[in-house]
Amino acid sequence: DMDFAIKPMNCPGAIMVFKTASRSYRDLPVRLAEFGWNHRNELSGVLSGLFRVRAMLQDDAHIFVTPEKLVEEIDNVIDFIDHVYKIFGFEYHVELSTRPKDAMGDRKIWDKAEKALQSALEKKMMKYNVNAGDGAFYGPKIDFHIKGSMGRSWQLATVQIDFMMPERFDVQYVGEDGKGHRPVMIHRAILGSLERFIGILVEHYQGKFPLWLSPVQIRILTVADRFNDYAEKLKEKFDEHNLRAEVDSRTESIGKKVREAQLEKIPLILTVGEKEENNGTVAVRTLDGNVHFDMNIDKFLRKILEAIQEKKLRIEL
Ligand code: ZN
Repeated sequence: DMDFAIKPMNCPGAIMVFKTASRSYRDLPVRLAEFGWNHRNELSGVLSGLFRVRAMLQDDAHIFVTPEKLVEEIDNVIDFIDHVYKIFGFEYHVELSTRPKDAMGDRKIWDKAEKALQSALEKKMMKYNVNAGDGAFYGPKIDFHIKGSMGRSWQLATVQIDFMMPERFDVQYVGEDGKGHRPVMIHRAILGSLERFIGILVEHYQGKFPLWLSPVQIRILTVADRFNDYAEKLKEKFDEHNLRAEVDSRTESIGKKVREAQLEKIPLILTVGEKEENNGTVAVRTLDGNVHFDMNIDKFLRKILEAIQEKKLRIEL
């Protein structure tokens, strides 16, 4: 007998959290990040795999900042976005959208906000296009577009400066003068929705995820049943290091097992037989088609743990 509502955006929730306490200028910026569920009643005809769904998880954040700290805070947000995209190996370009005709709020504050975005970008020597008049009526924004390996361009991150919501929801902080002031709100998302982002990753890597991201990182293939124990022992060792490994001990030909693992794009395909068990080694096949025979297991472990730790895009053995 309860009423439920579906939530199309996270912003009002963040404002309610901000307003649970009295905030002074010393507390700001207050940064509230969440992975928040949002819903859109998309027509069934436009739903499309992971790219367009009705329930999506947004990596959202709302930052409440004093006007004085705005540039610095935007700077931080851009650094964060750049850091995340570098990990995935994305190239991106930036677009700045400025004051539209029906803008609300003081022209001076707008100029300041646009300057803030611009100077943050220029300080980083980032190239960007200006979409004059294309900002939201409540504030200017910058969008980050990435280019996938298939040549498709995706708009991902967005950083929006907002003067309106703090006004509408009467958000205040206590300034140095002891009086109430309006903070500026920054809305930012980096991945966008996780559903869409995972779709983009699958397309961008064409299924060949970097090792650190792969759902299954290692598959151990036995050439005959009598090597199952050795394979299981290796798996235990990998488990100890939180590696995602599995054993294929089916009585299939090794050729077939390799082919299947390749089709599933498992980054590290290990085969074990007589020689490997005797020497305490493995034969490692990577997805670029290279095979490293008789590789010492500790050396192998060291290399891949390092590749994962550093989130490398390519494995070098
Ligand atoms: Zn928001």
